[in-house]
Amino acid sequence: MGIVAHEFAHGCIAARLGQGWYEKMTIRAQAHERAADELATLWGFGKEIRLMRKERDHKVSAILYSRVKEIRRGRRAEIRRSVRRARLLLEQYDRSPVPGTRRTYAACPRSPASSPRSY
Ligand SMILES: [Zn+2]
Repeated sequence: MGIVAHEFAHGCIAARLGQGWYEKMTIRAQAHERAADELATLWGFGKEIRLMRKERDHKVSAILYSRVKEIRRGRRAEIRRSVRRARLLLEQYDRSPVPGTRRTYAACPRSPASSPRSY
């Protein structure tokens, strides 16, 4: 019941926000989660909301904490891919001819710090 009340509260808040409600809600997601809890509590579902939060803190957080290493590894791999993409773009830009001249820039030598390494 707590979950249903919470979701209905999101619907009421979204209706009040009007046009662009989805963007407005996703920008301040945490504040909207709390607002949905508060509205559901005002409707008389305070006990259910508290139980829902308690269950989430104990079960969901425990699952998330057990996956912290895996999540961090994924984030680091994502960052490495972004760095590689940025480096490739910079190298392409560096090789493009300068408008109005015949000269092209030579590619910058890689610094030792930018060589691939394993984490
Ligand atoms: Zn929610």
